[in-house]
Formats: sequence, structure tokens, C-alpha cells
Amino acid sequence: MNTDYEVLIVGGGPAGLAAGLYSARARRRTLLLERGIHGGQIATAGPVENYPGFPDGIEGPELAERMLQQAIKFGMEIEYAPVSGIKLEGGLKVLSTDYGEYPAPAVILAGGSDYIKLGVPGEAELTGKGVSYCATCDGAFFKDQEVAVVGGGNSALDEGLFLTKFVSRLTVIHRRDQLRAEKILQERAFAHPKVRFIWDTAAEEVLGRDQVTGLRLRNLKTGLRSDLPCQGLFVYIGHRPNTVYLKDLVELDEQGFIITDAVMGTGVAGLYAAGDIRHDSARQLATAAGDGVTAAIEAEHYLTELAARQGGLTPKALAPGR
Ligand SMILES: Cc1cc2nc3c(=O)[nH]c(=O)nc-3n(C[C@H](O)[C@H](O)[C@H](O)COP(=O)(O)OP(=O)(O)OC[C@H]3O[C@@H](n4cnc5c(N)ncnc54)[C@H](O)[C@@H]3O)c2cc1C
Repeated sequence: MNTDYEVLIVGGGPAGLAAGLYSARARRRTLLLERGIHGGQIATAGPVENYPGFPDGIEGPELAERMLQQAIKFGMEIEYAPVSGIKLEGGLKVLSTDYGEYPAPAVILAGGSDYIKLGVPGEAELTGKGVSYCATCDGAFFKDQEVAVVGGGNSALDEGLFLTKFVSRLTVIHRRDQLRAEKILQERAFAHPKVRFIWDTAAEEVLGRDQVTGLRLRNLKTGLRSDLPCQGLFVYIGHRPNTVYLKDLVELDEQGFIITDAVMGTGVAGLYAAGDIRHDSARQLATAAGDGVTAAIEAEHYLTELAARQGGLTPKALAPGR
């Protein structure tokens, strides 16, 4: 077991990388564990226009690389390994990976969440070319265009109403004949002149070669197929947080997102959660980074207090079996 670290971070998206920067810069021995590629959701995103400091926008992968290099510059280490478990042992949190166990007194959970995809032909190929999962991020690219939203919950209507600022027409496609969204959102959507609904219908295929040109729809009651011309598709059928291995340790909401206090505490001393993995996250780059910063600052306070309480014992001295 490598007992050298004071702060472990699970997930190398904007929350984890911001946490890593602050923690390493506070001179804490910091290791970030990432299961895939660093950058998280922005590693495959197109232009980002709403992250402060980049008036001309910045490509997602470039921003991810800059965040990583900034954290590494101050001493953060990164290893590419999926974390599959966490246990509390002898005052430490011990993370398990395929390559071994990593203990540390402070851990920041920044594993994000995955958008639930439709899983239909054309969706993956046209993501970033008309298919999006974030109106706040991409809505402005669809000025005066016809756009479809798939979903019937709060996110579908909330983000759909946001899209009406830009688009010429918005079609909401829903599998059922009524919405799950809050009544007030329903009233606003029904009253909006740009919004129309197609009920009892599923999207079967996203059409287009280099850019979305339409959607192939199937009425679930009649089985009839039709094509809807549009230049954009926003999918809001839910998020899946990466918290499967955490359910016995921290409090999760009914969808599996981690419930934290205002300073990213999970209820387990020294264990924090940051970014999209949190209940009530705004699911934006800037908020994820902000959460990561708060979590790292709190972890720093925790380590300082721990050292004072234990008379300066190092994490190594706290390791299980010693
Ligand atoms: C296509 C796209 C475009 C977007 N555009 C914008 C935009 O323009 N502006 C904006 O503000 N927001 C945008 N967003 C949203 C933004 O990217 C997210 O809010 C942000 O990335 C969340 O950061 P995070 O670090 O919390 O989580 P994530 O970015 O999801 O990162 C989590 C990381 O943790 C890793 N991980 C998960 N579980 C484990 C595990 N068990 N072990 C190890 N690693 C693990 C994942 O591989 C991932 O790299 C966009 C999202 C997408 C998908």
C-alpha cells in the first residue's frame, strides 16, 4: 500500500483538477485517480464559451489539458486507474483500484455523472455536431434554428425554455402523453409560442452526416414513423452519477447523487464530494471547479486540525497495521 499521500482525488474532470491544483499548491501530497482520460466531460466537448477568462472561448480538450498541467506544475500526481471501492481503516480512507490500494486521511470524490444517452443510431456520431446534453453550454450555437428536446422532466422543460431565447422553434418529444415536470414549468412551456409537443413518441435515429438535419420518430401507440427536420437535438432523459461504490458510505439522493453540506462535506470526516457528482449541482464547468476548490480548502483545514490533534502524526504513521 502506498501511504505517501495526504489527499486523494477520485476523478480528473474540472472538479478533481481544480481540487488537485489547490491541494498540491497547499503543499499537500496529492494523487488524482482517473479511470479514463483527464478532463472528464470536457475532454470530448467542443468550444466552451462560458468559462470565465476566455473571451474568445476555448476548446474543451485544450481547457482540460491546461487544467491538468497547472495542477501538475504545483506537484499533483495523476494515475490512470478506476476506483472500485472505498473503506475506512485506522483513521484513513482506503481506495481500491485494480492496481492496488491507496490510503489517505482526506479524499475528494469528483467522479461526475454521465448523461443518459438515447442509444440510437447517429447520436454518438453527431454529438457536438447538433446533438447536445446541455442547453446552458450549447444553446447559443442554435440561434434562429429549429431544435428538438427529448424528455419530459424538469430538466427537459427548464433547459427547453432556456433554449427558446435562441431558437426559432422548439419541439419537445416525449414518450408519454403527459409530462413529469413541475406544473409551473409545464404552464410556461404550454403557453410559449415557440414550443410545441409531440406525445407518445420516441426518437429512433438522429439524421445527418456532418451536422444534424433531423430526427426519425416513432409513435409508440400507432407504430407510425415520421421525420422531423431540425438542426439541433438536446437530450434530457437523466444523469447517472458515478457513485455505485459509495452507497454504503455516504448519503445519496434517490438518483444516487451525493448529498453534501455547503462546504462539500459528506458527513464522513475528511471525505468530500465536488462537482456534478453532488446533489443539486448546477452541472457546469465553473461550478464544478468551484466545488473542487472548496473541497480542497476544507480538506486542508481537516488535515491541519488532524495533525494538531494527533501531535503531528503523518499519514504514514496512521497507516493500517502500524
Ligand atoms: C459535450 C459537453 C459539453 C459541455 N459544455 C459545457 C460548457 O460549454 N460549459 C459548461 O459550463 N459546462 C459544460 N458541460 C458540462 C461540464 O463539462 C460538467 O459540468 C463538468 O465537466 C463537471 O465536472 P466534474 O469534474 O464534476 O465531472 P466530470 O467532468 O464528469 O469528470 C468526472 C471524472 O471522473 C472520472 N471518474 C468517474 N468515476 C471514477 C472512478 N470510479 N474512478 C476514477 N475516475 C472516475 C470520469 O472518468 C471523469 O473523467 C459540458 C458537458 C458535455 C458532456
